[in-house]
Amino acid sequence: MRKRLAYLLSAFVLAIAGTVTIAVVASPEAAADECFTWNRTLSQGASGSDVTQLQIRVAGWVSSGENLALDGQYGPATANAVKRFQAGYGLAADGVAGPATFSKLYALQDADCTPVHFAYSEFDDNCGANNFNGGKVSAATAKENIRRIMWQLEAMRHKLGDRPLVITSAFRSVSCNSSVGGSSTSLHMYGQAADLGLSSGPSQCSMWNAGKSAGFEELLSQGYPDHNDHTHVGNKSSRFWSAPNC
Ligand code: ZN
Repeated sequence: MRKRLAYLLSAFVLAIAGTVTIAVVASPEAAADECFTWNRTLSQGASGSDVTQLQIRVAGWVSSGENLALDGQYGPATANAVKRFQAGYGLAADGVAGPATFSKLYALQDADCTPVHFAYSEFDDNCGANNFNGGKVSAATAKENIRRIMWQLEAMRHKLGDRPLVITSAFRSVSCNSSVGGSSTSLHMYGQAADLGLSSGPSQCSMWNAGKSAGFEELLSQGYPDHNDHTHVGNKSSRFWSAPNC
């Protein structure tokens, strides 16, 4: 997002200098983004890595219990997720990803491709190591898995009224996971899970409920053993939702 601001600023300075008119300011959707730029309108039937990049960013806009495949194929499920994203941000909900949709996505992402309300530093505490090393996957894979979660959380955050979601634990190395008493099969060791603390804006149970329509297949909260002080969200291939007191 920073680069676009720089464009606008330089155009403004030139305008002040009287060398150009304000009309020179490029429309935001036409400007390249630091992280990723879509160069074509995407709709059902499209395929490619630009579709995958879109899917990562709308994966938190599914229906309850749905899990969007990040397969680079723009099918009906992707179109529906795009529609919900568009409706969620007040755009025309046509399921086609064009300039208005991309412009909103650019506004929502930082230069490192993470969403604006979340940063890797919130997810890499790793028992004080502040990195993604020592897990069950490479650091690069863990980081990419975390980025996927961040976009799902960005959707959840918006749907829950734009109140902060506080991460109390996310990636853990194998040794970190055992030192905090995590399960030996914990998704935290893969960068596929995050814990949302009680100081989050939304209540513990409303985060658990919202996770169902944000693509999370693992959701644990109030009443599940050792989960009375946070809501755990995770990505896996089979479903496990439990919160007896929610
Ligand atoms: Zn957890």
